[in-house]
Order: sequence, then C-alpha cells, then structure tokens
Amino acid sequence: MTDISVDSPIPFSGDPLDYAENDRGPEHLQALLGKTSARAILLFKGRIGIGDGGRPHRIHPSDLIGHDIMSPGPIFLGMEGKRPLFAFSVVKPEEFLPEENFVSLRGIGGNLKPTDLAIAGRAKSLFAWHFTDKFCIACGQQTVSRDGGVKQQCTGCGAESFPRVNPVAIMLVSDGDRLLLGRGPGWPDGAMSCLAGFIAPGESVGDAAVREVMEEAGVKTKNPRYLFSQPWPFPAQLMIGVALDAVTTEIKIDPKELEEARWFSREEILAVFEKRGDAFLRLPRQTIAHQLVRHWLSETA
Ligand SMILES: [Zn+2]
Repeated sequence: MTDISVDSPIPFSGDPLDYAENDRGPEHLQALLGKTSARAILLFKGRIGIGDGGRPHRIHPSDLIGHDIMSPGPIFLGMEGKRPLFAFSVVKPEEFLPEENFVSLRGIGGNLKPTDLAIAGRAKSLFAWHFTDKFCIACGQQTVSRDGGVKQQCTGCGAESFPRVNPVAIMLVSDGDRLLLGRGPGWPDGAMSCLAGFIAPGESVGDAAVREVMEEAGVKTKNPRYLFSQPWPFPAQLMIGVALDAVTTEIKIDPKELEEARWFSREEILAVFEKRGDAFLRLPRQTIAHQLVRHWLSETA
C-alpha cells in the first residue's frame, strides 16, 4: 500500500534559518562574513551548486575573494544556529565545481533534503529579484542592495523596496469522489494538474480560486477552504492551495488557458499515485499540485 499522506514540510517550505531581520547592519554583516564558522552556498544562473553527498556545496565566504561574483554580492540568508549562512551567485562556475554540478531546482528538488531545498529556493528567489529589479519604481534611478540582500534602496530618492512574492491560487476542485484536473497548452501529453491562476488586485484568495475555475474550465464552484501553501522559486510565486466544491460539473475550457480538462475518479487517481495506472502523468512530488492531490486522496480514503 502506497503512503499517500502529504509531505511535511511541503517541498520548498520549512526554511530552518533565523533570518535575523533586525541584525543586518553593514558592519555586523562584514563581521559575520569573516567568522570562521561562516559558510556560503553557490548559485549560477539560478542553479544550485551541488557538492559531496548530494547536498548544496558550501565554502567559506573568503574563498570567493578574487573571483567574479554577480550583483548584488553576498546575500545573507540567515543564522543556522551560531553559523552565518550566505549565498553567492558566481560568474564562472567551473572555478568552484564542474559546471554540470550546478543543477536546476526543478530537476533535483525531489532529491534534496527538505531543509536544503527550502534554503536553496529562497536564495534563488532573492537573486532573481535582484537580477530583474535594478531600478526604482518611483523615480527610475538605480537601486542598491541593503540588509544583506533582503531590501533594496534607491540611490536617487531613497525609496525602499522589498522582494516581490506573487500569490497564485491553486485549486483542488472536487465533485464527490471525482477531481477536476487540466492540462495547459504545450504540456506533455497526459500531464494533468490542478487548475491555478494569479490572484488579482482586490481579490481574496477564495474569490480568485472560484473565478479561475470558472474562467478556465467553465465550472461553477463554492465553499473555498485554505489547505496549505508553498513558496515556488520560479521565480517567486506563493502557491496557495484551496479546496472547492463543484456546483456544476459540465466542463467548457478556455483554449487559451487549457488544452484539456476532465473529471478523474478517485480510483483512477489512486492508481496513478500507486504507479499501477496511467490515466495521466503523475506530477513531480515537489509540486504543490502533487501534494494537494495526495491530500485529497488521504482525506477521501
Ligand atoms: Zn527612486
């Protein structure tokens, strides 16, 4: 019998670091960088450097001296007990590890320890933010990193900005013992997932969930319930899992959003998760959709 319980923590969540939000002054960070116990993980173009034992490779921050690093320099991830942990984005990965050791978190996420995955995902999202948001949204002048990379400040008007998180509602739509799953345009044949969409300004999570299911699949739903959420670092989504009850069951897809959507029986879904059925391709375990379906299977057992 396959275990169908939800992973704890949800993949990419459960970051164990103390972010030390009130202790990020420049002198203090300089002192932390020099501590013997300090460590740094390495990224290259959003990929994470993996070392011995399949864990993120760690070096002392001073090992970066003399090497080119990407803006904004070291990001202070936080304290791991008494050990400060930093992240650097390197320019020449081969100076530290074979380039193929820098791997996408999409590809290896399921193989990393949950805490390593959470730490690496947060580092990836922070670097992505510094890479795309280099100018002040108020006056257009360049911004600089502050507080070890968790804040930016404009060099012109002084306005502060903070890392962006984009909320997405992702829905577990059920009709008794059937679940609604869909396939986006361009997805591999057979790949099916929970419907999802960005939350619009002015919407509650529940409003967005109900609207998205209607827009994408033409199904009317009610009674939104929050289940659990997941930081998804591609580049910085917050996936918010919502259960919905179907009011209508006829499907009318919006072809811009979906190529296909249908109701799957619990037995069809369970067979896929127990690797004895092929009604659709099982999503990677690190996705919240996979975890939401596990949740539904265990709740309806
Ligand atoms: Zn400005």
